[in-house]
Amino acid sequence: MIVFLIPRAWLTGLSIITNGNDMNKKIIIANWKMNLSPQEHLVMAETIKKGVVVSDNREVVLCPSFTSLSAVGEVLKRSSVQLGAQDAFWDEVGAYTGEESPKTLRELGCRYVIIGHSERRNFLGETDQMINKKLKAVLASGLRPVLCVGETLEERQAKKTDLVIFNQLTKDLFGIHLLDNEQVVIAYEPIWAIGTGQTVMPDQAEQVFRVIRQNTIDLWPKLMANNNVRIIYGGSANENNYNNFIKLEHCAGFLVGTASLKAENFLAICNGVN
Ligand code: PEP
Repeated sequence: MIVFLIPRAWLTGLSIITNGNDMNKKIIIANWKMNLSPQEHLVMAETIKKGVVVSDNREVVLCPSFTSLSAVGEVLKRSSVQLGAQDAFWDEVGAYTGEESPKTLRELGCRYVIIGHSERRNFLGETDQMINKKLKAVLASGLRPVLCVGETLEERQAKKTDLVIFNQLTKDLFGIHLLDNEQVVIAYEPIWAIGTGQTVMPDQAEQVFRVIRQNTIDLWPKLMANNNVRIIYGGSANENNYNNFIKLEHCAGFLVGTASLKAENFLAICNGVN
C-alpha cells in the first residue's frame, strides 16, 4: 500500500481557512458547556445570529455541545457567526469511545476548537501532554485552537501565576511549529474566576497577557507570535465588565461561559466590542 504524506503546510494552504485579516479582529467566543438542550441550542443560535451586528472588526463564535454542532452549524450557515467545538481528540479515527476528531469537527463546519479548558483538566484529568497532542491534531486539520490556561486561587495568592502560565504554555505548545497560515487563540482564564462572578483586576489580566505574549515570542518568530496569536480573557466576563478588559493593550476578546447563556447579555458584549 502506498501512503502519501501531505505536508501540513500544503494541507492548510489548500484549506478554505486562511489567515485573512482575522488577526486584527476581536473575537468573542460563547462556551455553552453542557447547559443547553437541543431545542435551546437552536433558539440561542437563531437569536444570536439575528442580533449580532455584522462588523469587520470582530468575530463571534458559538461553541455548542457535540450533539448540537450539526444543527447549530445549519442555523449559522451563511451568517457572520462562526461555529466552534468545546474539545477535540488527538487522532483522526479509531477506537476512542466518546471522542470526536478534529477532522469530523471541521467537516461539520467548525472553525475553532476550545482545548485544555480547566473543567476538562480538573474533572477529566486532561494533562498538558494530552493537550499538546490535541493542539497538534487541531492545527493539522486546519482548525484554530483556543487554548485555555490559568491559575488557581492558591497559586495566585502564592504569587505563582506567571510561573503556572509559563509552565502550561511550555508544555502545551511543546514542539508546535506554527505555520504562516495558522492561528492560535490563547484564553487566559483564572480558574477561580470561572463561573464565580469574580474577575481578575484588569491590570493583573494585562500582566498575564504580557507573560503569554512573551512566551509566544520565545517559542516562535516574533512576527508570527504577534500576527498569528490572539490573547483573550475568560472568567466571569459579562456585559457589565467587558469594557474594563477590552481596552487593555493585549486583550483581543473574550471566552464567555455564564453570560453567553442569555442571548441578550452575550449580544451586549459582542455588539459592544467593536
Ligand atoms: C469558561 O468556562 O470558559 C468561562 C469563562 O465561564 P464563565 O464566563 O462562566 O466564568
